[in-house]
Amino acid sequence: METLKGALIGCGFFAQNHMHAWAAIDGAEIVALCDRDPDSLKNTAKAFDVDATYGDVAEMIAAERLDFVDIATTVTSHRPLVELAAAAGLNIICQKPFAENLDDARAMVKSAQQANRILMVHENFRWQSAVRAAISAIQKGEIGTPFFGRVSFRSAYDVYANQPYLATDDRFIIQDLGIHILDISRAIFGNATSISALINRINPKIKGEDVATMLLNHENGATSVVDCSYSTKRQPETFPETLLEIDGDRGSLRLEAGYKLIVHKDGTDQVFDVSPPLLPWVERPWHNIQESVQIIQQHFVECLRSGTNPETSGDDNLNTLALVEAAYLSAQENRTVKLDEL
Ligand code: NAD
Repeated sequence: METLKGALIGCGFFAQNHMHAWAAIDGAEIVALCDRDPDSLKNTAKAFDVDATYGDVAEMIAAERLDFVDIATTVTSHRPLVELAAAAGLNIICQKPFAENLDDARAMVKSAQQANRILMVHENFRWQSAVRAAISAIQKGEIGTPFFGRVSFRSAYDVYANQPYLATDDRFIIQDLGIHILDISRAIFGNATSISALINRINPKIKGEDVATMLLNHENGATSVVDCSYSTKRQPETFPETLLEIDGDRGSLRLEAGYKLIVHKDGTDQVFDVSPPLLPWVERPWHNIQESVQIIQQHFVECLRSGTNPETSGDDNLNTLALVEAAYLSAQENRTVKLDEL
């Protein structure tokens, strides 16, 4: 089978993980890189031994024979880049947040549908192996029908050091991190019908909100609480683990700090160590996120090979993005927002 040829657009902080993951994945290779910043471009080309480098995406697409692009730029560039790639007949994997607003996201999904190409969002937290183990136990019916969940991410890790834009953007924790945590809630309970959100800014040095507490009503009648904080000083510091408490009609499930999964049913606890494997290129404490990058990119390659829609397709991600928009609207107007308002 021929190796799929891809190009990476955006060679910044997080894209280094994409490149390590591509190098470990069979059946696909990155043959060209593009970045407007010459230093990032040069350093990434050298680190991963890629000869073809470009400062302009249109020029790269015209010059290279590609099957897909991997867009790892920040959100403001996503819509023009997705539309350019779709118009050139390329398959696309695009980092989260997928788009700045729902109108842009819908247009991006349409552009890929019109080109009959696969569009996947790099919405990777639900692909972390520990989270996946919890989702799989729930789907197998281990705790019966889930009716309540708390999906929680609380930390005081200095994320601003590697991603300075997080301190200066108007929107912070829901748009950057909450989007993943809301997506995990969707992966467990399905789509929501309404959301109520409260937000707060504790760190005076940043512009956006660094604490968010959200209450979701799901289509299947379940309730979930999604809570996120980057101002929670705690021991152990659990960055970047998502913790879960899920109650079902036959039992309950907890994903606790240190990747400890506890499934309670028939009056007893079963305890599993669901620590992510330490891949050769990963670093603690990010190893769970880095591993999920490899898993999601592998899924993308499998979808290209089989012609199937990815689990975290652009179309699916409209529902996650709608939750983000609805959460901000709810916090701003101090009311419950129904998803069908958007
Ligand atoms: P970054 O600023 O370090 O890197 C972005 C790069 O894209 C820069 O080098 C910039 O020059 C380049 N770029 C921007 N627009 C371009 C264009 N039109 N053409 C060519 N190059 C362009 O950003 P980052 O911290 O790596 O974040 C990138 C994306 O990854 C963001 O959307 C962020 O939310 C996401 N991210 C995801 C995760 C995750 O777990 N999924 C984690 C961290 C960051």
